[in-house]
Amino acid sequence: MSGGNGRLLVVGLGPGAPEWVTLEATQVLAEVSDLVGYAPYLARLPERPGQVRHASDNREELARARQALALAASGRRVAIVSGGDPGVFAMAAAVFEALETGEPSWRGLDVRIIPGITAMQAAAARLGAPLGHDFCAISLSDNLKSWSVIEKRLAAAADADFVLALYNPASRARPSRIHDAFGCLRARKAATTPVIFARAIGRPDEEVTVTSLAEADPGLADMATLIIIGSSATRVISNGSPSRPFVYTPRREGARR
Ligand code: SAH
Repeated sequence: MSGGNGRLLVVGLGPGAPEWVTLEATQVLAEVSDLVGYAPYLARLPERPGQVRHASDNREELARARQALALAASGRRVAIVSGGDPGVFAMAAAVFEALETGEPSWRGLDVRIIPGITAMQAAAARLGAPLGHDFCAISLSDNLKSWSVIEKRLAAAADADFVLALYNPASRARPSRIHDAFGCLRARKAATTPVIFARAIGRPDEEVTVTSLAEADPGLADMATLIIIGSSATRVISNGSPSRPFVYTPRREGARR
């Protein structure tokens, strides 16, 4: 095994609220010698004397993963951080891609994934139980896959009547994509299907909008937004709060009250 005591921890920081960082994440982050990650995520963590920070750009995932593995191989105790859960559209897969294609000795490193609360769980918890039955998660980012693959998956998920959690809904480079996605869903799902825009959940600028597929304005979505699109079973219950009713998907299909 190379690197002596070197180890790499891939740590999820949750959606943003400090109370949503797990105890395990807090413990390991206090023990590492080096922190690697996208600058805004590192900014969430307290400065510790002696701990070295390696901030990077958001687009550099694979390079960042290689840097973290190389540091661990040199004997450092390294944490590479992600928002939410590191296994959901985030750093854990990049680390394993770098591991598989990198130095053979990296495979002997102690690599551990420290899970976090992912955005769809946090968003769902704000509303009730929109993900209460079968659901799927799709990233709308076409940085790493083609738009035709995304449209095929959206259509298949809509036809299979899953609840959809849509990550990375807004593309600065191609702002019309989110409108294309809604067009695909509107052609396949009922106009009354509940739609949730959950923005910056757990952060001071949090905003939640509950609407319907017919009335939703796809332009509401930015890079800090997670969109949940209901299945045919998803229900909205008014609760006295016009802006934030309860939304849930019953576990019994075709349930009658
Ligand atoms: N690993 C992260 C997801 C990274 S992809 C996780 O598990 O949550 C980035 C996308 O996640 C954003 O475009 C947005 O769709 C979603 N997201 C991340 N944090 C969020 C938050 N606090 N509120 C709403 N959506 C969030």
